Amino acid sequence: MNYEPIIGIEVHVELGTASKMFCGCPADHFGKEPNTQTCPVCLGLPGALPVPNKKAVEWTILLGLALGCTINEESKFDRKHYFYPDLPKGYQISQYDQPLAIGGSLELSNNPIIQSSNNPIKKKIRIRRVHLEEDTGKLQHAVVDGQRVSLVDFNRSGVALVEIVTEPDFRSVEEVDLFTKKLQQIVRYLRISSADMEKGSMRIEPSISMRKVESRKSKVESGEYPNYRVEIKNINSFKFARKAIEYEIIRQTEMLVHGDTPTQQTRGYVEAKGVTVAQREKEEAHDYRYFPEPDIPPMRWESSQLSAISRQIGELPDAKMKRFITAYGLSAYDAGLLVETKERAEYFEQVIRQKSAVISLKTIANWIINKKVDIEKTSPAQLLEQIVESTVVSAITDSEMETIIKQVLLDNVKAAEDYKNGKAQALMFLVGQAMRLAKGKSTAEILKINIIETIKI
Ligand code: ZN
Ligand code: MN
Repeated sequence: MNYEPIIGIEVHVELGTASKMFCGCPADHFGKEPNTQTCPVCLGLPGALPVPNKKAVEWTILLGLALGCTINEESKFDRKHYFYPDLPKGYQISQYDQPLAIGGSLELSNNPIIQSSNNPIKKKIRIRRVHLEEDTGKLQHAVVDGQRVSLVDFNRSGVALVEIVTEPDFRSVEEVDLFTKKLQQIVRYLRISSADMEKGSMRIEPSISMRKVESRKSKVESGEYPNYRVEIKNINSFKFARKAIEYEIIRQTEMLVHGDTPTQQTRGYVEAKGVTVAQREKEEAHDYRYFPEPDIPPMRWESSQLSAISRQIGELPDAKMKRFITAYGLSAYDAGLLVETKERAEYFEQVIRQKSAVISLKTIANWIINKKVDIEKTSPAQLLEQIVESTVVSAITDSEMETIIKQVLLDNVKAAEDYKNGKAQALMFLVGQAMRLAKGKSTAEILKINIIETIKI
């Protein structure tokens, strides 16, 4: 019997606002002395009142719009209750039934840079919602005076957190990988978060279940979903996300093959062992006892406000890549590398605006990509200077070229014959020999052309 994975994901992204979501504490908590960035609001002390961060709300709308979502005309915050020591109020301020943004999508296209498999994926992933909430504190397990204790650091408590929830549209690990990388790229393009997985600014929670392929209604991929799902919490690297999902696919398939149904639950990924372990039975929405946050009035948006935010989206990676291919005649691969970050793409365009006619676009693209130019330390003018200098140094005279090629053909008569007889590999061998003699003063491409020309004669 064949099973296919049904995967949906939730992604949490910490916004890069200067202050936290509902108070004035600095939001940059990474590596700070524990409990130094707190106040009565983010410590949940009685009587403290939350005041929403305007920038965080605007940035959530910005992301929603960039993902093709509809912005709810009216939106509100709700209290989501659960008891855990990293949540000082006993509830998290989140959004329940009126999130800021709903119903978007993200196209997984064949980006040669972030495409992880050889089979190009072309597919639209539906985005159910994008909402805004606050991050929790952090538990640290330590030994104090010989006692094992759990310590709480509230520096992260109350940091603005965006949650992106997809529909269960993924059918493979590769699709999840592509989506999360693309989402990270878009978040960075919008400059609303560093989205650093290692620092916990972006965290992935996949929900996985397995479905019999035969149980699909017709050939439609959606059809009916299994009656259980397993959620894996807080994964902080693309690699671990892949491994955790792969592990779940095998674990659940084995259970199903043996006639068991996996339990609906929340599991954690244990990095050291490469396995997932049960944490708790999955809560239903009613377990959280959601109700509207009484201390924050609902939000309403005029269409003029939304279009003002929409104008800030700018050109996103896919559109930029397409333009680089058509406007500059670059390969998809080069264009993909250049637009990988917005900074690199903008740098490339600054350089080509300043370049002289003798330097080709392709040369500039190659330099930025292959020489890994430090774009923060090298101004466009400096880069152009470097390119001009190196062209002069590497110039090789015609007679030097002739000597090299003659020598190579003389030393490798057999290979030259083989090439004449149609063995393409022999040419690469000759080019390699010529490269040795040229000592870096010419390129493989130029040497190849000269060898072919000489052999023809
Ligand atoms: Zn605070
Ligand atoms: Mn959440």
